[in-house]
Amino acid sequence: MIWGGIEGGGSKFVCAVGTGHHDIREEVRFPTTTPEETFRKACHFFDRMIAKYGSLKGLGIGSFGPVDLNPKSPKYGFITSTPKLAWRGVEFKGFFERRYGIDVSFDTDVNAAALAEGSWGAAKGLKNYVYLTIGTGVGGGGVVGGRLIHGLVHPEMGHVIIRRDKEKDPFEGACPFHKDCLEGMAAGPAIEKRWGIPGEDLSEDHEAWDLEADYIAQGLLPLLYVLSPHKIILGGGVMDQETLFPKVRKRFIHYLAGYIEHPAVKEGIDDYIVPPALGKKAGILGAFALAMGSYEL
Ligand code: ZN
Repeated sequence: MIWGGIEGGGSKFVCAVGTGHHDIREEVRFPTTTPEETFRKACHFFDRMIAKYGSLKGLGIGSFGPVDLNPKSPKYGFITSTPKLAWRGVEFKGFFERRYGIDVSFDTDVNAAALAEGSWGAAKGLKNYVYLTIGTGVGGGGVVGGRLIHGLVHPEMGHVIIRRDKEKDPFEGACPFHKDCLEGMAAGPAIEKRWGIPGEDLSEDHEAWDLEADYIAQGLLPLLYVLSPHKIILGGGVMDQETLFPKVRKRFIHYLAGYIEHPAVKEGIDDYIVPPALGKKAGILGAFALAMGSYEL
């Protein structure tokens, strides 16, 4: 018997099996294409793993979104209004439940990553924290009072409105819904559109990073004000540019303007805004955490 996990991202899928977070036995990754082809490849992997290790004890799925997480909804476990048209209205959780005859734990990819960081990573032992990923989009998962945040829908932390100086930055924003929300101004595609080259090709001292840090810091403020997290974890491809961390912390303190009286957001800031301790594994380990039922941290 073995645990299974799927990190279902908008551009790639990672499927893995293991006995726990320290013991991922096998893993496969492939591009996200059509739902049919992508699910077929996932099933091909799990069929082989079941033949080798025995049946699945449980399967966790962290999915790109938006997804329906309301257990009372007829569309529970479906992908909903994604801009990826082929995936709109696709049943994800139910497909794998029927295929393998087991209960599947299903959540957003960012909630799953948040859960993994709380179980085994940078937020271990904390009951209030946020995980934000800044990559091809901006998404966030969060834990409040030891539980993943689920409500009307799931959190959409990447679409908060930020202030911009139109003279300093005439780029109007890349979000198809809001243009200049955080995702529209700070995700990878926005960087590439604004500067004409992908972020990974911009030098460390390029002015892009000061602007980027400013927008990210602004995006973090409502998270602090509304959720009062003990820690904010920043992952995703854009944050691979490590010079961003000190810049984001500095702008965050600047915008706080001394309003929150707590050492964590002053001298403790280096431990407050941090990279994921699980690195690139946060996503797939999140799927494991879901499968293993680590809902209560
Ligand atoms: Zn938006």
